[in-house]
Amino acid sequence: MRKNIVAGNWKMNNDLSQTRSLINDLKEQRITSNAEVMIAPTAVNLYQAVEATKPSKIEVIAQNMHFADSGAYTGEVSASMLKSVGVGTVILGHSERRAYFNETDELLAKKVDAALANNIRIIFCFGEELADRKSGNEENIVEGQIKNALFHLDASAFKNVVLAYEPVWAIGTGETASPEQAQDMHEFIRKTLSDKYGANVADSVSILYGGSVKPNNANEIFSKPDVDGGLIGGASLKAEDFFAIVNAF
Ligand code: PEP
Repeated sequence: MRKNIVAGNWKMNNDLSQTRSLINDLKEQRITSNAEVMIAPTAVNLYQAVEATKPSKIEVIAQNMHFADSGAYTGEVSASMLKSVGVGTVILGHSERRAYFNETDELLAKKVDAALANNIRIIFCFGEELADRKSGNEENIVEGQIKNALFHLDASAFKNVVLAYEPVWAIGTGETASPEQAQDMHEFIRKTLSDKYGANVADSVSILYGGSVKPNNANEIFSKPDVDGGLIGGASLKAEDFFAIVNAF
């Protein structure tokens, strides 16, 4: 059975005291859903965030990592470093990483391998730009992003893979894919997985939707059968809003 997951991507927000304060607010919220809850603070605060979330159901995850395990990569953080501070999940391929840091499918395939080799679960993000959707090319783009970065993996690797469909035109814009658009794409993604790995694998992988999910639209999006959760940006920075989304399941 695939899991429901709601993950908050804090991006480059919250210094150490803000991180502690938001985590304290999150710990005061009541969880009424069965969703796994994750937050992704900035790398420099991961250790303190892991400590601050104890004891709670909130998992602290990373926003990014490098593919090498160590070496001359100034400013970067490796999978084993994440593990050493208690982080077991990493977001890879976020559209901001692709757009501002030139992360390509080929580079992401290396990061995927490094994370999985270190037993780190990945939340792999992908999604089309507005021009792709306008030209009706969104499925080709999404299929390519998934195939290029993930289809060298064995079926067994997918127990540590979560997918996050994030149409670029809906991230941070206030514009959300309609629940039907999200469902159609998620169904297509599951079929793409099924064609390559079979229905068992496809049915076991959680597929999250990301793009301006808010308390007032989460319910409808999460009610779709192939939407297993959300990757939440802006609305994850307020404890009440984030938990209203978590509890939409
Ligand atoms: C994101 O950054 O992954 C995201 C979905 O952001 P927002 O919710 O702000 O659109």
